[in-house]
Amino acid sequence: MVSSEGSVLIVTEVDKNQEILPISLECVTAGKRLAEALGGGTVALIMGAGVGEAAKEMTHYGVDEVCLVDHPDLTAYQPELYVAAFLQVCERVNPRAILMGDTLTSIDMAPRVAFALNTGLVTDCVAVEVSDGEVSFVKPVYSSNVMAAYTFASEPYVVTLRSRAEEAAERQETADAGVTPVDVKLDAASVRTEVLQRVVEEDAGPKLTGADIIVSGGRGVGGPEGFEQLKELADLLHAAVGASRPPCDLGWAPPKSQVGQTGEKVAPSLYIAVGISGATQHIAGMQSSKKIVAINKDPKANIFKIADYGVIGRWEEVVPALREAVSEIRK
Ligand SMILES: Cc1cc2nc3c(=O)[nH]c(=O)nc-3n(C[C@H](O)[C@H](O)[C@H](O)COP(=O)(O)OP(=O)(O)OC[C@H]3O[C@@H](n4cnc5c(N)ncnc54)[C@H](O)[C@@H]3O)c2cc1C
Repeated sequence: MVSSEGSVLIVTEVDKNQEILPISLECVTAGKRLAEALGGGTVALIMGAGVGEAAKEMTHYGVDEVCLVDHPDLTAYQPELYVAAFLQVCERVNPRAILMGDTLTSIDMAPRVAFALNTGLVTDCVAVEVSDGEVSFVKPVYSSNVMAAYTFASEPYVVTLRSRAEEAAERQETADAGVTPVDVKLDAASVRTEVLQRVVEEDAGPKLTGADIIVSGGRGVGGPEGFEQLKELADLLHAAVGASRPPCDLGWAPPKSQVGQTGEKVAPSLYIAVGISGATQHIAGMQSSKKIVAINKDPKANIFKIADYGVIGRWEEVVPALREAVSEIRK
């Protein structure tokens, strides 16, 4: 029986290998701070089919309880069924706040859940702030030119958290929380969408969101051959390859590598921008990076205004030199 009434409910997602996503562990960090402010506990929720092991693993991350909804109809994300299961868990947990990662699944589910619970929603939150017992949720608006702090007028708070906005909770050897299985009733007749095909993305190097280092190319890289060179540098650094919009539109880089307002929002420890001018729409997706290095032949390029380190020069000369230097260090 779920006991943590009035707590923070943390939606935990797993990848195709049933491994817990880093963003879910980052939600635990934010969730614990939030729970402390609200005077309640933390409940992690795992929904899916065959996710029992992941639920057990989740007990090692310092939450008070793990709720497990293991149902054969929840094999893959299906909005009507997932939301129905989620709302049944909410009836039992009665959370004061619901935290989800800013993943494709959660940004589909969060507004449906908020609507069903007749409450508000803050998406793409980058900071959960607690001051004098008051909780606010900060998100970038107007292409990240303004940071807006939102407070809720209703409960539960429903919030999706941007990847790498928080440190991931650390695994503890001891598992203090228990796993509570929750039975849900799902009605196949409620399903109004049908999944016709599922294309599993090939894993080629680290994923953009969650990557610690990103090497990103812009129009100045000149073509797909340029991106091959960036990939070589990225491999040496164990980094992911990103791009501004033009290379994605031109087919030099896959669409999923686009960083920016209409692409991925990233916050790696190191972002290397190569041949990127620094348009506001691009900066909107990467300005939270801890360190930014810009390589551009134009000394007046806007990207230098936000870069921690800048190299004025042609990437054709700078990138091979950088690659060589990294190889030397790695020897
Ligand atoms: C609604 C909307 C949404 C958008 N969303 C996004 C988004 O999500 N992400 C995004 O990135 N853009 C987005 N854009 C596009 C954005 O406005 C810019 O057009 C785009 O970011 C520019 O990309 P860029 O910096 O690669 O190209 P450019 O602005 O053309 O800059 C190329 C840079 O490369 C440099 N350069 C050229 N040759 C070399 C060389 N040999 N060596 C070194 N440097 C060199 C140049 O000096 C220049 O600074 C959006 C636009 C709109 C209108």
